[in-house]
Amino acid sequence: MRIPDFIERYRQIISVPSISAFDQKIDLSNRPMLDLLATWFADAGFDITIQPVPSAQGKYNMLARLGSGEGGLLLAGHSDTVPFDEGRWQQDPFTLRQADNRLYGLGSCDMKGFFAFILEAVKDIPVDALKKPLYVLATADEETSMAGARFFVEQQLIKPDLAIIGEPTELKPIYKHKGHMAHTINVEGKAGHSSDPERGVNAIEIIHQAITQLLKVKQQLSHYRDDAFSVPQSTLNLGHIHGGDGENRICGHCCLNFDVRTIPGLSDSEALALIDDALSEVQIRYPNRLTREFMYPSAPSFACKNEHGIVELAEQLTGFTATSANYSTEAPYINELGCDTLVLGPGSINQAHQPDEYISLDYVAPTTSMLQGFIKRVCL
Ligand SMILES: [Zn+2]
Repeated sequence: MRIPDFIERYRQIISVPSISAFDQKIDLSNRPMLDLLATWFADAGFDITIQPVPSAQGKYNMLARLGSGEGGLLLAGHSDTVPFDEGRWQQDPFTLRQADNRLYGLGSCDMKGFFAFILEAVKDIPVDALKKPLYVLATADEETSMAGARFFVEQQLIKPDLAIIGEPTELKPIYKHKGHMAHTINVEGKAGHSSDPERGVNAIEIIHQAITQLLKVKQQLSHYRDDAFSVPQSTLNLGHIHGGDGENRICGHCCLNFDVRTIPGLSDSEALALIDDALSEVQIRYPNRLTREFMYPSAPSFACKNEHGIVELAEQLTGFTATSANYSTEAPYINELGCDTLVLGPGSINQAHQPDEYISLDYVAPTTSMLQGFIKRVCL
């Protein structure tokens, strides 16, 4: 089969839904998406492996390899998209629309379309001339648990020299971002009539003490700083609180949700230790009343190792200075392969997760030549 041209590839990629969501009712398998990509990359001469992700039913990773040997270049991206807002799109999210020099569709920018760009970049590469392997990785569930990237890294199947994750960065190299974790605290008190507060255990009073402790953690976190970020310190935000059912009752239950954003250099386990240490005082005062849980899997912070000079190469190929980002990606996992890793791809984060998501066709030429630049410098 001949690989279709760029626009037709985009059309087919957009037409295959690959939504991931914590809500089982709208969560989809990404296998049809990977089967489509696998056909094209196989036609382009790549060896294909599709692996089930054990922790996520119906989800798979695809690894495509061109050439052999040590090191090499990894071009990575996620094959899933977020769900779409019904009624807020002016078109069918799964039908590619070309207008105003743009391609519209769910995943056009974030970031299934990146695989169409890679195929554009590799079509003129002389396969026989490859001295180091070129890998393409398409992961599952980036938008939810990052289970695909986690599983891929656990196995340590490959050790490329450099890795590019083609998330929409407007072709600006991103060499670090913060981590994100979200927690919920639940306090079980003992409800009762408000006329005698001593006959119950007031959950709001316990949460009040937990908040005092968390604000101390917020202070501690602020000492972990990195001036590469517009908000240089690690942060803690109290985001949601709910408790009680009436002013004349002792509050029997209260919950509090908060998040923490860590700079690179402050590990998730260190941040967690600060939180749990602080809360333990309240737990000792009120045995078996207060629990803390993760709301969903946390996303670690990321900083590029830059052992092979990927930052300088990327700046040279794109003309942009490397910068930091405020969002999370799979980069901390891919980084664990031991390679220099950057987040760098076409499209803007402003169009990601939005109705009428699009990518400008202005990105085609510079993205293709940037990817070819990386392939030439690393693999040829
Ligand atoms: Zn993305």
